[in-house]
Amino acid sequence: MNRPQTLLKVALDTPLDTLFDYRQPESAGAAESNAGSEAGGRVDPQLGQLVQVSFGRRETMGLIIEVADHSDLPGEKLKQALAIRSQLPPLSSEWLDLCRFAADYYQRPLGEVAIPALPKNLRALKTTSIDRALKKLEKAAAHDPTPAACPALNAAQRQAVDAIAMASGYQPMLLYGVTGSGKTEVYLQAIARVLGQAGEAAAQVLILVPEINLTPQLEESVRQRFPGVEVATLHSGLAEGERLRNWLSAHLGRARIVLGTRLAVLASLPKLKLIVIDEEHDPSYKQQEGLRYSARDLAVWRARQLNIPIVLGSATPSLETWQHAQSGRYRQLELRARAVPDAVLPQVRLVDVQRDKPVEGLTSTLLTALRKRLEKGEQALLFLNRRGYAPVVSCDACGWVSNCPRCTAFMVLHKLDRRLRCHHCGLEQAIPKACPTCGNIDVHPFGRGTQRVEEALQQHFPQARVLRIDADSTRRKGSAQEAFETVHRGEVDILIGTQMVAKGHDFQNLTLVGILNPDTALFSHDYRAGERLFAQLMQVAGRAGRAAQKEGGNRSEVLIQTGYPQHPLYAALTAHDYDSYAQVLLSERRQAALPPFLYQAMLRAEAAHLDAALEFLEQARNCLEHPAIVMNDPIPMTVTRVANVDRAQLLVESESRPALQAFLKLWMAELRGLKTRVRWSLEVDPVDI
Ligand SMILES: [Zn+2]
Ligand SMILES: [Zn+2]
Repeated sequence: MNRPQTLLKVALDTPLDTLFDYRQPESAGAAESNAGSEAGGRVDPQLGQLVQVSFGRRETMGLIIEVADHSDLPGEKLKQALAIRSQLPPLSSEWLDLCRFAADYYQRPLGEVAIPALPKNLRALKTTSIDRALKKLEKAAAHDPTPAACPALNAAQRQAVDAIAMASGYQPMLLYGVTGSGKTEVYLQAIARVLGQAGEAAAQVLILVPEINLTPQLEESVRQRFPGVEVATLHSGLAEGERLRNWLSAHLGRARIVLGTRLAVLASLPKLKLIVIDEEHDPSYKQQEGLRYSARDLAVWRARQLNIPIVLGSATPSLETWQHAQSGRYRQLELRARAVPDAVLPQVRLVDVQRDKPVEGLTSTLLTALRKRLEKGEQALLFLNRRGYAPVVSCDACGWVSNCPRCTAFMVLHKLDRRLRCHHCGLEQAIPKACPTCGNIDVHPFGRGTQRVEEALQQHFPQARVLRIDADSTRRKGSAQEAFETVHRGEVDILIGTQMVAKGHDFQNLTLVGILNPDTALFSHDYRAGERLFAQLMQVAGRAGRAAQKEGGNRSEVLIQTGYPQHPLYAALTAHDYDSYAQVLLSERRQAALPPFLYQAMLRAEAAHLDAALEFLEQARNCLEHPAIVMNDPIPMTVTRVANVDRAQLLVESESRPALQAFLKLWMAELRGLKTRVRWSLEVDPVDI
């Protein structure tokens, strides 16, 4: 029988920006191993189905993007696809559109976006893990669909819940609430209403969080509040089997709440009715390698595409979001008071380190405050964004410093394991007993990290239980969570840590926060440093005084040790005044023509020698011109050399996003045509400049 050929246009995970044509397999289910798939007779291929094909010498999984009856390739050149994976519903056209948008916007081939967005075990050639996952899902117990009772809300929270639950169609909302104002409760009750309104199994909600492992409290609250509802988590810490099961649960529409980190924004959610982004300002929503997407921006796009509401929650919104709220594009919902009655915002005080000179990083003011809290049996948190013992080891006699031989960076002293470690490339060395250059035996640590402050605290307060939480103390899986549990159980008096301790924890007995040495970020070359520092300090400060003040207790307090007490950033922090500081930053950005009033893309190049990287960027700069585009000079990156590779960058700017997008499309085509051995990559809306 001679019937017209059915051709599959397939996306594959390759750097080639094209779809690949295949003939339809003989029988759609032929190569499927499980008995459930159809053997014999043709099944019509559908968009969004996974298809097994041979590509080059290997077999791989692709995604059917188009079914056509014509190929530009001659028929004899077309390979036949091996098998269509038909036991699962295909990915929806909305999902394909989302991937297409991301690919387009971030200038990547569709296959490089769509295929890696799927769990590894789903893309595996064997279907055994899929069969196993489906079986496990089937066995999952039936649930009771009524949500548990909710605590009472204050007026502001109630208004916010109403606004979210009653929003119809695309409606971006900024939920702007001070730390401890009960944003989570607003999310939970709004979600309950949305799930309730939609009726049995008709709705899904996506909640994005910056980090699940560090803040298991939200997951716990969600599960407790919705005992009758299937909740699926998606994050990179899951084992592959669990990741597949949870992804399938979302894809099949069983999970009605999907809670995940940035990668969850690309999950398949056929019944998505509401998106919530908690701590929307958090830098971890930006993927920093491969497809460098912003999960927040993609989520907003997805909400618009699906015509559903989206809530962006923060105490310190990103300036992009703040600007949208100010201009009326986003609706602003406000929670200005702490949710627990009688819990008040902590008093923020600045400690001038010019007058009160710190010893081992600790001023006498801070030590006195610590002593007082210890006597009362309250907890304190010290924040220092630098792990290790000391950032550098040096020799006074000849000026030698512990540079990493492979990077433009210092080797950091880790006293406990007696090693020097590079935080950029991971290289480790023993601590030298004498200066490697002049032989002086008096080499000593300079500056301080969390380990050194921990040591000093133990000397000052030998009776106190001091716990350090940073990337070094929590390398073992699950150890961060265990450490936080001990704080919650009250088994820790003083907690010292890096930004890991700043996120979302509700420590009930914590009444003092000390911030050591935050000044370096004030003078960073990165224009976003001020915005980030403010958000970070506000978050850390917000850990204090979340519970109601005790009878006869003192107000909780935040001490910031700074050499620049006059700086407007600290003035704004003292006044808990994000609004006016955001206004200042925004007007600075407007005057200096910086984002969000300007659109940027960054071309980065890596080579064994800096010259080669710069030369490539120079070539890139000259290969295409555009009247609405400004090309800056190629420059070495701040940390130029990492692991023996030199890195340089070229910043491209435009006042018009469409113009930038149009230019990038043409430019990428040119760049792909350049013959070079330099490794390069493009980032749209870069955050680290
Ligand atoms: Zn020396
Ligand atoms: Zn290094």
